[in-house]
Amino acid sequence: MGDPVYAAVDLGGTKIIIMTVDRERSVKERVEFSTPPARAPALMLREIKDYIELLLGKQGKLQLASIGICCAGFVNKEGHVISSPNIPALHNFPLKIETEGMFSVPVIVENDANAAAYGEYRFGAGRGSANMLFITVSTGVGCGIILEHKIYRGSGGFAGELGHFQVAEDQTPCACGNRGCLEKLSSGEAIAWRASQEYAQQMDTADVFQAFRKGEPESKLVIDRAVDCLARGIANALNLLNPEKVIIGGGVSNEEECFIAPLMECLHKYTIAPALKMVEVCKGELGADAGVWGMFALMEESFS
Ligand SMILES: [Zn+2]
Repeated sequence: MGDPVYAAVDLGGTKIIIMTVDRERSVKERVEFSTPPARAPALMLREIKDYIELLLGKQGKLQLASIGICCAGFVNKEGHVISSPNIPALHNFPLKIETEGMFSVPVIVENDANAAAYGEYRFGAGRGSANMLFITVSTGVGCGIILEHKIYRGSGGFAGELGHFQVAEDQTPCACGNRGCLEKLSSGEAIAWRASQEYAQQMDTADVFQAFRKGEPESKLVIDRAVDCLARGIANALNLLNPEKVIIGGGVSNEEECFIAPLMECLHKYTIAPALKMVEVCKGELGADAGVWGMFALMEESFS
């Protein structure tokens, strides 16, 4: 038997991150690769298995103790993916059972935003906060909730769906089946799509922020609305949960001047004064690795 090592996997819509970590919290190996397009889940798991075996083999004398997978989508408490708009192949897939069958080690499965929230809470910008929210604004809008030092999952595992807060009268259909969802107004993808309509040409998120910095009114219109809608969503969450910290992650969180500063101004409009006064809004510290660190923390607590 070799030294025990945990494998943490972040199964995202665009990329997959795998990190192996030992009991001293030392990262042994890390790999990142593109999510294969529309592949059958069994093939996707096989690919992950090959990578994990490669990472273990590189170090020698390592024994896989457990696997923790976080995944974009609606994941129930039994580790079953109900649906995943960003990884359609995982629709109605028993991810925990299938992974256990493939590796013969204990497996934890978690929603990716919950995992990232827990990673930031244990090892990043949320250290020491009893109650906090982690909000990621990238392709979509995700949210993980920490209440009294624990992930709050709700009754079935579907709590924290801030991206589907109703924040505007808008007709754009969302993957959840509703219209007017925050995700369809404030995510990076929504910003790019709406700007493409305004300009009548294809724009990506970076183009829109660049145009905003040049003072172009079309991009200002799109970004102002995205910021206002996100502020409404966050304010509702602050008014409901009164956390001490809100951590913003995802690509859009890097747009300090164009997005984060105006967001803070808007929060003043919609949040009750005592809740706003005590909350600190800041950027995440772990970047794209928040999810894998969260899965490592959950495995460490469950299996050490
Ligand atoms: Zn929705």
